[in-house]
Amino acid sequence: MITLALSKGRIFEETLPLLHAAGIEVLEDPEKSRKLILTTNQPDVRVLVVRATDVPTYVQYGGADLGITGKDTLLEHGSEGLYLPLDLQIAKCRISVAVRADFDYASAVKQGSRLRVATKYVAISREFFASKGVHVDLIKLYGSMELAPLVGLSDAIVDLVSTGNTLKANHLVEVEHIMDISSRLVVNQAALKLKQAPIRRIIDAFAAAIGH
Ligand code: AMP
Repeated sequence: MITLALSKGRIFEETLPLLHAAGIEVLEDPEKSRKLILTTNQPDVRVLVVRATDVPTYVQYGGADLGITGKDTLLEHGSEGLYLPLDLQIAKCRISVAVRADFDYASAVKQGSRLRVATKYVAISREFFASKGVHVDLIKLYGSMELAPLVGLSDAIVDLVSTGNTLKANHLVEVEHIMDISSRLVVNQAALKLKQAPIRRIIDAFAAAIGH
């Protein structure tokens, strides 16, 4: 049995064409079903539906043989024990610093004052601001980061940005582009040895589908 861990939403949808290229069709829709283990047209391939931040954990401990997860999640979680064979170039976005349109970010950074930053991405933020020599107080949030500067919880946020519509709708502006993000295939190293042929087949089909 080959088990693939995916999160619902953008990653799931953008993975379907890659699975199709590997001859795998998922037989249930995670948006309609409450099932957490989805069957496929291949009796020996199944898909687990897990929280995006849990994908590396499932693969690391062998609950899944493979998974697909964002570079943001991998940087926060660490990639110890994981084999990362492919950047799948899906679920592309960027991770940025944003502030209220009326907040003078340049002066705040220049004056060396402490910047209050609300984010789900504590590790990425800590490293980014340390590399700039900016002192920050990091406030960990689990969602809706855009709200924090609007109610005075923080001066800035670090969050994923795709179209920029969410920032615009909340009168926030992007002031720093930290890095580009896309999703990677992650593989359990023991599974790669024990189930080499079927896992290699999937890696090779994905690689061919993205033109590698
Ligand atoms: P947008 O309005 O298109 O800029 O999207 C921003 C919102 O979608 C933010 O709340 C982000 O956290 C989320 N988002 C954008 N891109 C991604 C992605 N690739 N994966 C997960 N969440 C994302």
